[in-house]
Amino acid sequence: MDLNKVIELKGRSAGPSSMIIVGVHGDERCGYEALEKLLPTLKIDNGLVFMAYGNPPAIKNNQRFYEANLNRLFKDNELLNEAEKNSYEYSRAQFLKNYLNQVEALLDVHASFVPASRRFIICEPNAQEITDYLPFDLVVSGFDAIEPGGTDYYMNKINKIGICVECGPLNDPASTEVAAQSIISFLKVRGHISGRDLVIKEQDKIQMTSLYLSKTNSFKLSQPFKDFTELKSGELIGLDGGEEIRTEKDCIILFATSLGKSGEEAFLLGEYKKGPASAR
Ligand SMILES: [Zn+2]
Repeated sequence: MDLNKVIELKGRSAGPSSMIIVGVHGDERCGYEALEKLLPTLKIDNGLVFMAYGNPPAIKNNQRFYEANLNRLFKDNELLNEAEKNSYEYSRAQFLKNYLNQVEALLDVHASFVPASRRFIICEPNAQEITDYLPFDLVVSGFDAIEPGGTDYYMNKINKIGICVECGPLNDPASTEVAAQSIISFLKVRGHISGRDLVIKEQDKIQMTSLYLSKTNSFKLSQPFKDFTELKSGELIGLDGGEEIRTEKDCIILFATSLGKSGEEAFLLGEYKKGPASAR
């Protein structure tokens, strides 16, 4: 199969238009594997669905990306540096935008590099009529403001609906199952597959509030943090070139990683909108 091409599925009757992207990060295999499993028998009843492999060379090499992080390149040119604009991923982002521009809603399928990580949805409130029915118990918002440039950011920016699903850890077969369920549920809620046997899910809601970029060439976490670990005010997160980096209030931490380079994404912080279900 040619991973560069976008697959176009058309229903017998006219209807909504959507896009599904897998492998924006090439080592997050779950979406790619789910699509391989579903495609041979998948039929669309209504409307138009594009299915795309986000980053074909990265998927082939089983790497996160080839030359630049594709999921930061969907922002305006003036917000990108020269290296980003000269990368393979920049041209791929322009190619994918041609298809995103033609549809009303996007589902972009990801996995996490953090072991045993919780599965969750990334979106803004405009996606709720869809995300209510996706197989997740956690919805996280606020990424557009602190970490712009993803596919979902792009869709929101052009007044459409962008949804990312984080299906669980890399290399966990259960993540592939969640990815497949997400794709089918999304197609049903969007009306592409007839028979809407879906129920509303109870979902915790988190608002992300900040992104920390490393200031030196040595950022070391004080401990490995699972995604959504709850931290108290004043807790030590890590050492940035020797400086202690602590929380300023009670929060949760996400995508925390030690780094050997300055200006890179070290961790994100957020807050439960109502408190976690476990505490209610
Ligand atoms: Zn990803």
